[in-house]
Amino acid sequence: MRISTAEVVKHEGKEVQLFGWVHSRRDHGKLVFIDLRDRSGLVQVVFGPEMKEAGDLRLEYVVKVMGKVAKRPEKLVNNKIATGAYEIQATGLEILSASKELPMPLDTDGREIGEDVRMKYRYLDLRRERLTRNLMVRHKVTKYIRDFLSERGFVEIETPYLGKSTPEGARDYLVPSRLQKGNFYALPQSPQQYKQLLMVGGLERYFQIVRCFRDEDTRGDRQPEFTQLDLEMSFVTQEDILNLTEELFIKLTSELFPEKKISTLTAEGGFGKLTTGKFPRLKYVDVMKKYHSDKPDLRKDKNDPNELAFAFVVDFPMFEKKDDGSIGAVHHPFTFPTFDTSLVPDDFKPGSENSKKLFKMLDSEKEGLKLSAYQYDFVLNGYEVGGGSIRTYDPALLKRVFEFLGNKPEEVEKQFGHMFEAFNYGVPPHGGIAPGIDRLVMLYQNESNIREVIAFPKTGDGRDLMMGAPSEVDKKQLDDLGLKLKG
Ligand code: ASP
Repeated sequence: MRISTAEVVKHEGKEVQLFGWVHSRRDHGKLVFIDLRDRSGLVQVVFGPEMKEAGDLRLEYVVKVMGKVAKRPEKLVNNKIATGAYEIQATGLEILSASKELPMPLDTDGREIGEDVRMKYRYLDLRRERLTRNLMVRHKVTKYIRDFLSERGFVEIETPYLGKSTPEGARDYLVPSRLQKGNFYALPQSPQQYKQLLMVGGLERYFQIVRCFRDEDTRGDRQPEFTQLDLEMSFVTQEDILNLTEELFIKLTSELFPEKKISTLTAEGGFGKLTTGKFPRLKYVDVMKKYHSDKPDLRKDKNDPNELAFAFVVDFPMFEKKDDGSIGAVHHPFTFPTFDTSLVPDDFKPGSENSKKLFKMLDSEKEGLKLSAYQYDFVLNGYEVGGGSIRTYDPALLKRVFEFLGNKPEEVEKQFGHMFEAFNYGVPPHGGIAPGIDRLVMLYQNESNIREVIAFPKTGDGRDLMMGAPSEVDKKQLDDLGLKLKG
């Protein structure tokens, strides 16, 4: 039976079988030493003079080793590795697979190596301890989230990737349709509309750990495809959503990252005690005035790798005037506008005085631009790690918002007719949030780039150097799709 290198410590004196890669090799003439590596770590293996085959071993060969677990003499204990008090005295060796000379070293943290090489040979890069660990931690984070939300009545539901263009504000990735020539699917910038339609569908509490696609220029914390925890709830207030998000991240931090301290907790708990407490809710105007940024870095000591300064930025403006004079939604058009954030969405029932006042304000550009929104961003150490809002569920108000944004009624009907149709059949008040998994794991792992926590990321200019994507396609494929390249 195979044991992992990490399990060696439990098998002193026993005959064991190990599988893994030759991580390092020292040939002392009579004795050959290797560090054998598997996913769980390293262990030293010693081959005596009778084991001639050991002379053939080279770095990254995949081997099966049989041998006895022995304690190393006190003065030879290697405190740098978890199995350092033991070694395997080999009695058998099989080479299962050879390796060419490596294009880059794997026994460093890799930060000193050019990214082109790391990306081209990503499968080798992933053998690096730091990268393996990042992916294993990422798995723990997503599993924790799934368990936490499942216990609270959330249902994980998959939504289509082949969908219709969404209004998140970035450029869409388009997928041509073969069967409906001349028509295109858009890969979702987020499942925003689907999750709202799930609320109309009566699901009440939805989540999904989901890929989103946005065709924008990539930067350190952006990728053409990224992962978010997308969630939506019916019959809730903004505070309900913030409280849930807060509880999730306080518990997740204390259980998975006990070395981390949340320095922004305001009630009970406090620095070092992470079981309860509140993240500050900071008003957008105040934050802009004080920090000149809507994602302030609130850490007390920016050199402390274990400090996490979470906060919510609330009370965003609903609209913004863009450089070209047009008006945009600061979050997205489905966000519920308000003239007073001390009121809750229930105070704006269709036909109420408050609702009438909202409509009136949307009649003039000047007044409309004064509106706030039930919108919140989730920030951590100077990064936006999520955002969300309470949604407008009165179809007449939603229509008014789209018009305020400069959309012609026919356009709105064409783009979003399905939403208006759905909202005619009894729509529950609802809202949600979407924390970004890549950025959160990056910050938990003290990485400075989300590429370090994604198994197969793209380069800064959107290429997959390992697979060679994007790539040209056959003329036949284009013909099937009814497409012709220009020029
Ligand atoms: N769809 C939004 C986003 O991806 C999040 C939300 O409003 O729930 O930014």
